Amino acid sequence: MNSSSENGGERRGAFDFARSVSQRRRLRKCNFSYYLHYGEGYTAKARKGTYAFGDAWQVAVEAVLQGAATSPEQMYEVFRSEWAKVEQLPLEWNSRNGYNFFLERGKALAQVAYRELRQIVGQPKGAAIYNQRFTYELAPGLLETAVPDYVGPVLRYQAPGVYLEPVQTVIDWKTSDREYKEVGVELDEQLTDYQLGVERHYNRRIEQVALCVFIYAAMPKVQWIFCPRRPPEVLEQFVASAVVDDQRIRRNEFPRNTNACFMMGRCEMVPICYPSQRHLIAAELDKPAERRNDQPLDWIQLEAIETE
Ligand code: SF4
Repeated sequence: MNSSSENGGERRGAFDFARSVSQRRRLRKCNFSYYLHYGEGYTAKARKGTYAFGDAWQVAVEAVLQGAATSPEQMYEVFRSEWAKVEQLPLEWNSRNGYNFFLERGKALAQVAYRELRQIVGQPKGAAIYNQRFTYELAPGLLETAVPDYVGPVLRYQAPGVYLEPVQTVIDWKTSDREYKEVGVELDEQLTDYQLGVERHYNRRIEQVALCVFIYAAMPKVQWIFCPRRPPEVLEQFVASAVVDDQRIRRNEFPRNTNACFMMGRCEMVPICYPSQRHLIAAELDKPAERRNDQPLDWIQLEAIETE
């Protein structure tokens, strides 16, 4: 078992820190964004309110599974006290929701979610692992950090709609205003990563992986999407593509993908890449005093983007 359980792996030099699925997602969207975030340390100042809701909701979910909340009302109370902690934070909301919107929706959602959690997962308490960060060796010399939301017993799902005996399962909790597309979960890299990591780090064989989506619509709902354990060919493909991405990072290949600048919202690095937007850097971005990597920025011609 090649793994260590510290934060993010030991750092040994430029970009020599543990990778993760979210790192590679950013890299694939725009290599330069990866460089700015993980190399230079730029992060957006504003956090999305929906992400904060997801974090507060997860605390309530864990309270149910660990036996600290034993009714929908208690689940809601746990959520409410977590949610109160973010009330004064500078969160980014969209036009349709805000702090009180989630406070209200959480109440109705707890009624549905509590019942679903008790039926499908039960109350595993200490038999499960909740939201634990660990680092494992994905390939020789390539460390990977993973934080699975839940690892433990869950009823085995057999399509269509049959639940059998409990088996070791990895679950990723999600919150959303709508249902997820089921087919997207089949190759979801995050779940593949968790299966691989849990088996190597904890030596627990995973039998199924799942997304559990808490839908905070006017009619709240819980969507379960189960998949059997990933087969070897999917695991091999996952590792191979992670190795290719890692090699790209180590070669310092960080070209900009200008097609991604305004795709699905505005990239938070626009104030850096677009000279006309530089005045927004201080207002929108944070940067640590010490960089995570020592790669100089000189070779990147920031001004060139305006002529592309
Ligand atoms: S603004 Fe565009 S080019 Fe710059 S990091 Fe973001 S996506 Fe990449």
